[in-house]
Amino acid sequence: MFCRNCGNQVDDRAIACPKCGVNPRAGFSFCQNCGKPTPGNAVICTSCGVALSRGGSDPRASNKIVAGICGILLGSLGVHKFILGYTIAGIIMLLVSLVGGFVTCGAGWGVMHIIGMIEGIIYLTKSDEEFVQTYVINKREWF
Ligand SMILES: [Zn+2]
Ligand SMILES: [Zn+2]
Repeated sequence: MFCRNCGNQVDDRAIACPKCGVNPRAGFSFCQNCGKPTPGNAVICTSCGVALSRGGSDPRASNKIVAGICGILLGSLGVHKFILGYTIAGIIMLLVSLVGGFVTCGAGWGVMHIIGMIEGIIYLTKSDEEFVQTYVINKREWF
């Protein structure tokens, strides 16, 4: 078989690729059967038609839990937006909370906190695949 991370040919029973050192079934870049490059979210190899092995969770979903928890606890500060790389959306939340919250005697803060909580819960209820598709590939900034 081939390493899904680097495309190097490895022994079928190998638990770590001798070239790149990771689990050869856990990568997302190459087909384990023919060694051709595959798109990260592909389920089936377009070159040889085999089902691509999924030995581990998608590394791009690693922010999901942290972003979800930060959204629920610190949603009004937009921390979860910064974690996902949505800097502008994060700044908007922060400004509405701080400046808007000051002008509206806390109402802006409360609204942003509720939005953050809802977004955090949405992140946590998504599967890794859905999370990557929605927030890493499509970069949906709100909900
Ligand atoms: Zn490798
Ligand atoms: Zn293939």
